[in-house]
This record gives sequence, C-alpha cells and structure tokens, in this order.
Amino acid sequence: MINQSDLRDINTGLLMRMILEKAPISRRDLARCSGLAPSTVTSITSVLQENRYIHECGWATSKTGRRPILLDINPDGGYFIGVELNSPTSKIGVLNLSTALVHTVSYRTVTDNVDSCVNQLVEGILDVLKWCKESDKSVLGIGIGATGLIDPATGSVIESTNLGWRDVPLLKRLREVLTLPIRIENEANAAALGEYVRGGQQARMGNMMYVVIGDGIGAGIIISGALHIGGHGSAGEIGHMAIDPTGPRCRCGKYGCLEVITSGTAMYKRYMEEPGSSELFSALDLITLANWGDPIAQRILSESGRLIGMTIGNIINVLDLDTVILGGDLISTASVLSTGICEAALAAILPTARHGVEIRTSDMKMHSAVIGAATLSWKQIFA
Ligand SMILES: [Zn+2]
Repeated sequence: MINQSDLRDINTGLLMRMILEKAPISRRDLARCSGLAPSTVTSITSVLQENRYIHECGWATSKTGRRPILLDINPDGGYFIGVELNSPTSKIGVLNLSTALVHTVSYRTVTDNVDSCVNQLVEGILDVLKWCKESDKSVLGIGIGATGLIDPATGSVIESTNLGWRDVPLLKRLREVLTLPIRIENEANAAALGEYVRGGQQARMGNMMYVVIGDGIGAGIIISGALHIGGHGSAGEIGHMAIDPTGPRCRCGKYGCLEVITSGTAMYKRYMEEPGSSELFSALDLITLANWGDPIAQRILSESGRLIGMTIGNIINVLDLDTVILGGDLISTASVLSTGICEAALAAILPTARHGVEIRTSDMKMHSAVIGAATLSWKQIFA
C-alpha cells in the first residue's frame, strides 16, 4: 500500500497532474515535459501503477523503433468527496480519479444552529461514504467549499453571512469524526477551480474568474493556472466593491457595495418597494416574472446586470483575464440578467482586449463548487 508521504512527493504530484492533463502520454514524453530523469519517471509511474492510480492504455505511433506504451489515469483508482456547504442548499458529490462526477446528493441546509448544521454535514458525508463503500469505491479525501471567509491555514470559517457563522473551527470539528484528509476552501474559489479543471485546463482558462451571483455576490480567481486566494484568503470579494458611496449600508458595514445594490436579495427588496408590484417569495420569483415579460422585473434585472457587468469589465482590465464564467442560481435561469452582465462587461473592457475575452454562463449544472472542492482534495493527496 502506498503511503501518504510517498504521494506527497513533489515529483509524484507533478507526474499525476501531467498524466491527468495530457493523457494518453508515454513515459518518454512525461520525462521530456517534466524535466525529470527517465529513470525517475519509470520508478514513480511503476509505484503509481502498482497502486492502480494509473494504467497502461495502448501504444503511441512511432516511425522508428519500439512503439512507446501510453499511460492514463485509472478512473476507478480512487475517489474524492466534494462538498458545497451553502444556504439554502448544500451538495455532496463523488469524483473519480479522472475528476469526473459520478454521484451527487443535495439537502436543505439547517442554518439556525451551528452544531445542527455541522452534524447535518457530517451525516451527509457519512451517508455518501457508505454509498462509496457499498459501490466498492475507495475514497482518498474530502474537499469542502464553504460559503464565507475561510482561514486556509486552519480550515476555520471566519465569517459566513449565508450560514450565520462566525469563527467556527469547521476543519477541527470534522476531524473529530472523519479520519480522511480534509481540505476546506471558500465556495467561489472551489467553483473557480472546478470550472478550470472541467474546462480542460486550456490556455484560455489559465487567467479566469468565476463569479457567483445569488443572495450574495462573490468570485474565485485563477491566475496563471493557480487559485489566487490573496494574503489572507479573501481575494475575490467583488460583492464588496464600492460602486455608490451614497448607496445603502451593506452587511459588511460599508455603504454602496455592489452586493447590497445588485444581489438577489437587493433586487427582491427593490421590486417589493415598487408601487403595484406583485407578491413575491424570493429573487427566483422575480426572474420568473421577468421571463414572463414583467417590465418592472426586467428593468430591475437589467439595471443590476449593467452594474455587475461594469464591475466585471473593470476587473478584466486590472487582471488581464481571458475568461469570465457566470454562475449561481440566479444566472442559470435569468437570461435578462446574464445578457445585461455580458453587454456591460464587454463595453467596460479596454478596446484592445475586447475581441479576446470570453464571458459566458457556466454549463456545469451548478456542480462547479462540488467538483472544485473534490479537486482540492485531489491536489492535497497528489501534492
Ligand atoms: Zn459590503
């Protein structure tokens, strides 16, 4: 059995990531691309093969001499659990070693009590672990994308307005009952990583931002192919960019943040203040109304889209991004909102960059955070 310290070997991680990205690939090409000695590649890949993390999958073509054997990740060689801890819904998924999602469940998150919420999460993970055991799937680690500000060093949730949490040592609590390696990251950061991995890690995705628009607004940023969390783990807080100093007070204490003016909660409030507005239960109802042609709902969505798009355009200019992906439950159902965002963002970016930037909605059916969280665990194991 391979041990954790072997897997954390820097060269093992390098070769696993390279096989994941470039497979099918020969040992010779692995040595050439990684810069490692052929003997080192042979020795590491034989250990990975013995442990069924990779397998041989055919022969490359060769004009001269022996045709080299090609290697690929063995999808059944190990599995990872990914969690999106959010409100009102949380999701738990299982990723195979090739980073394909093979199982998902979701549940309505308890938010009135921290202990109940953590217990609910643990029970959900234990249920999925049971499913894995019954399906003969060996789980190597767990990744969690939690809504809120996360301390990446301790795995604590410093603050989460959605969950109503402050200073919750989530990693410590989970380690009391779960023995697998666990990694915790902010949900938007996890989702950005999920989009990056599922997007084929192409060149266009190397500098990208995933923007989640729902009751709050946040973003995860990938720079040069790596998640950018900033000095204190709070990079990507675009919902708290000040866009109107005379605007209403935000939950963060400042005035006129993007989120307090344009989030789902803000749009819902604005609609309900309009004279003659219908009775709505949530921002999702506002989107239904807009899709039916309600002019007030369409105007509110379009104004929010313009402000969010302008902010995204400004960030594209600052970071020189290639791709921006829009996600979150409001985006998946609101074409008025996403169209407004795309138009305003394209209008705000510098003319020289305009033709080269792609701004689109996520096509991952709301699973990007689960996939990204499980991928964080993948990276933790094969460091
Ligand atoms: Zn704010």
